[in-house]
Amino acid sequence: MANLLYDTLLGVHAGKTTPFLHVVDGTVVTHQAFLATAAQIANAMTEIGLKPGDRVAAQIEKSPEALALYAACVQAGLVFLPLNTAYTVDELTYFIENSGAALVVCDGRNVTALTPVVQGLGGQVETLNADGSGTLMVRAQRCSTAFATVDRNADDLAAFLYTSGTTGRSKGAMLTQANLLSNAQTLVKEWRFTAQDVLIHALPIFHTHGLFVATNVTLAAGGSAIFMPKFDQDAVIENLPRATAMMGVPTFYTRLLDDPRFTKDLTTHMRLFISGSAPLLAETHVKFEERTGHRILERYGMTETNMNTSNPYEGTRKAGTVGFPLPGVELKITDPATGKTLPDGDVGQIEVRGDNVFKGYWQMPEKTAEELRSDGFFITGDLGTIDDEGYVSIVGRNKDLIISGGYNIYPKEIELVLDEQPGVLESAVIGVPHPDFGETVVGVIVALPNQTPDLDAIIEACKTSLARFKHPRKLVVVDALPRNTMGKVQKNILRDTYSDLFTQP
Ligand code: ATP
Ligand code: MG
Repeated sequence: MANLLYDTLLGVHAGKTTPFLHVVDGTVVTHQAFLATAAQIANAMTEIGLKPGDRVAAQIEKSPEALALYAACVQAGLVFLPLNTAYTVDELTYFIENSGAALVVCDGRNVTALTPVVQGLGGQVETLNADGSGTLMVRAQRCSTAFATVDRNADDLAAFLYTSGTTGRSKGAMLTQANLLSNAQTLVKEWRFTAQDVLIHALPIFHTHGLFVATNVTLAAGGSAIFMPKFDQDAVIENLPRATAMMGVPTFYTRLLDDPRFTKDLTTHMRLFISGSAPLLAETHVKFEERTGHRILERYGMTETNMNTSNPYEGTRKAGTVGFPLPGVELKITDPATGKTLPDGDVGQIEVRGDNVFKGYWQMPEKTAEELRSDGFFITGDLGTIDDEGYVSIVGRNKDLIISGGYNIYPKEIELVLDEQPGVLESAVIGVPHPDFGETVVGVIVALPNQTPDLDAIIEACKTSLARFKHPRKLVVVDALPRNTMGKVQKNILRDTYSDLFTQP
């Protein structure tokens, strides 16, 4: 036996004094130093009685030590369970109880509130602060920098990650060593990462994007990362000239484009900008290319599967699409009613199969059985289509599909029309209950600063662009759309807010 994930991503760098993390405060953490800290933390966790397979929940700010906690869990055969730093004590309590974590690592903020909860479950609490201090680190610093790596099977759990909670309560996705390793290796090849790469790492490490894509790809390639506690425009602009690649969510790119300091000159050393986690607007694509000459590479993934598709490194990166299924990932579009594969061009549910697909949802056997078919295909919950060249596009989420008077309506199609109207910054289209049609279309609009969109004119514009059953029955203007911390629009909140627009007596 061995511990393939540790050996391949981490152990392979033993003894290397090359940089792994360039922290924006000027500190440089070498591969060797990173591994030493991870081994010390692994020793500390063993000392307090943790056993392979135990879950380590962590709500900690991003820091080299926080990342070393992840590496330590891999080395000690513990299941790393990072939690969103925005979660409140009530939310954390749910995740801690649900996961049955043996150790909860938190920063100073929540230690008093969480201690009785964790102790009530027979677990322990340690602290790890943003500056790398805390009880866990005090223990770790007394420990050896050598640790005998714990053997793990490819099928053993490496991490346990809660989904973003965009469509409802977050679900715990169980990810194995093989899931994480196969994806990291595939992405290194597809995106041509090497030891010479320097990645702008501005994503949180509690989410699949920052942890299993950005971090694991850097580790698998033996490269380094410019490590920022969070996305900070000034820091990105300052560091771009020494970076080669960046991974971000669409808002990173729109924020850079809004900054006049962001010029082509800053990006001449860059070879790759990648976007994912939410749809990249065509407008952002075009503006980015005009400004920098770089075409953003959009890819599609999720907590349960890591990455599913990517636009090509060489070849056309087609705006509005998420590219092709990655090597090792099978993807099909099926009819939600029958589960049968649909012909190219038709819209249906996206199903994927491959080493990247998770083992199931934690303590949700029914949900797991519903979504993870016995033939290995996972029903992603996203709707999409494949064009005649094989590019996959995401049309929306199954839960957001509107069925009005028997017609299927994809909100994105209407959102594209609304977004183009004068005075409109962005929109979200939802289905709300209607006594005659079952559901009907409501458009929620955010106005451009200091503008008042003419709602009647917008309805008229929809009438010229869209079939009658797709016309919004009502438009409402709001200050901002509800979004989660990854910047995704939470349509369930909008549906709740407007649920009785048409059904009130
Ligand atoms: P929950 O499952 O709890 O509702 P979530 O699905 O938002 O939350 P994540 O796993 O973080 O949780 O996000 C995965 C989802 O993000 C995908 O299923 C897809 O809907 C969306 N997504 C990811 N990349 C893209 C992309 N490039 N374009 C459009 N949507 C994307
Ligand atoms: Mg999801």
